[in-house]
Amino acid sequence: MENFLRDVEDALGNAEAPSSSELDDILSLAGELKGLPLSDAARLLMAGGEDALRAICDKAAEVKSAVFGPRVVLFAPLYLSNYCSNDCLYCGFRKSNAIARRKALSPDEAVEQAKILSRLGFKRIILVAGEHPRYSGVDYLIKTAKEIYSRTDVRILHVNSAPVSVEDFRRLKSAGYGVYQCFQETYHKDSYKVLHPTGKKSDFLYRLSVMDRALEAGFGDVGIGPLLGLYDYRYDALAAIAHSKRLEAKFGACAHTISVPRLRPAEGAEVKDAPYPVSDGDFRKIVAVYRLSVPQAGVVVSTREPAKLREQCLMCGASQISAGSSTEPGGYDGREKSTSQFYLGDIRPLPEMARVIAEMGLLPSLCTACYRSGRQGSNYLRAARSGNLDELCTANALLSLKEYLLDARPEGREIMEASLNRFLDEFKGPLKEDLKRRMEMIANGERDIHY
Ligand code: SAM
Ligand code: SF4
Repeated sequence: MENFLRDVEDALGNAEAPSSSELDDILSLAGELKGLPLSDAARLLMAGGEDALRAICDKAAEVKSAVFGPRVVLFAPLYLSNYCSNDCLYCGFRKSNAIARRKALSPDEAVEQAKILSRLGFKRIILVAGEHPRYSGVDYLIKTAKEIYSRTDVRILHVNSAPVSVEDFRRLKSAGYGVYQCFQETYHKDSYKVLHPTGKKSDFLYRLSVMDRALEAGFGDVGIGPLLGLYDYRYDALAAIAHSKRLEAKFGACAHTISVPRLRPAEGAEVKDAPYPVSDGDFRKIVAVYRLSVPQAGVVVSTREPAKLREQCLMCGASQISAGSSTEPGGYDGREKSTSQFYLGDIRPLPEMARVIAEMGLLPSLCTACYRSGRQGSNYLRAARSGNLDELCTANALLSLKEYLLDARPEGREIMEASLNRFLDEFKGPLKEDLKRRMEMIANGERDIHY
């Protein structure tokens, strides 16, 4: 299991920053959209200086556009519970946080929160919870999913929750969850041990092997990512790339998403400042290197990051961002106050974020079509690699935007409407006439129309 970490150490041990002609060679290989060998990814992570950063980011923008077109997927987290039996030193939910105001949503309360998000336009939501046998166990997650699916028009739930056994993953999958997401935090075993002193999460290998169990249980799509700032980013980012490659070799699909969480201050956390701070420039480089090394993975930048940096990330490889997030259970109705997991860097609500994306010339997407049409795991990867998905996904993104503009009537919708019409005009491919017909169907009140 740990062998791939030895490959990471070897690749980094031998890696030097590339000369400018070596950088050109690596970037031109990345332009073939087949990813990069670990040794090349390591060299990109060693690169320094503004010129190298610009070249890496520009190539990542090119690769992102070739794989995902102009689409930027928007989603929101729904925090279910801040009870936790672990003691991760950096987290506001940790067991020893004596000042925490604890809250676990009942399934009814979770439904209310999901309805708020759905009214805002989010039809894909990721449920998030601390690790606690009573307040976030598998039975609770299954019941919550069942209630949300049956009582709201949310179309797909993903989940970021504690690692479980293959059998429990099977049960979670049958409850209708899409992506299973879990962050390794750090792939560096000694640092991991210090930062996760007690509780189930202190078992490094159980966490490292979590995606093997999730994939074995039938989760086609898994989301990974180290929490940046806990250890040397070069090691952790390269390990995430190696992790994805290992999963692809074993299960036929790379990580569906690689997230780029960076440590934030949290109320009641013991570790307040990152032991290994990551600068904004290095953050962009990491986003870009993920994009170049695993081109088909969604690269996710959350609201932990400040507004300007998030926009820069959309121009260097990021393909998914959250918006209008709250990290406190019950946080979307603004009534009761419970402890949030960490302080946010970008508090812009969905309409503002979608408008900014449109103003950047990109296409805000609230699409859930892949899950409705069974494109997951290796099926998805095959379609993405063949280039067949691009037209379909842009069409789906446009349909989801149309529905959003009609139902949520967001502020700034004129700009988004103009962008929708422009993308529709420029849409090339055999689907164009049918796409226009489907747009009409949405205008006439039909919903959840997709390819
Ligand atoms: N409790 C489960 C776990 O730890 O895997 C699942 C959800 S946890 C609430 C989600 C993620 O938040 C963690 O995996 C960690 O990477 C991140 N996180 C925790 N504290 C953070 C902080 N202070 N700043 C930024 N991200 C943090
Ligand atoms: Fe609990 Fe997850 Fe926070 Fe750790 S990161 S204390 S496991 S909620």
